[in-house]
Amino acid sequence: MPVLLLLLLAGVLGYFVWRHQTSTLTRNCRWRQDKRVGEWRCAFCGARDPGEDSPRECLRDQQNS
Ligand SMILES: [Zn+2]
Repeated sequence: MPVLLLLLLAGVLGYFVWRHQTSTLTRNCRWRQDKRVGEWRCAFCGARDPGEDSPRECLRDQQNS
């Protein structure tokens, strides 16, 4: 039973899953302006940002409460 190989495989898989999650938080944010309420909304994580200019980064971590 190659236990070490299984552990290595699990570690590699976990690493790629972690990379995927962190990258989607910062790169795939799609800000869309909602003019009715005057704010920007991220279509991926649902973060909101008031103002006229499009946000440049995801605000999800800052708005979780
Ligand atoms: Zn986002």
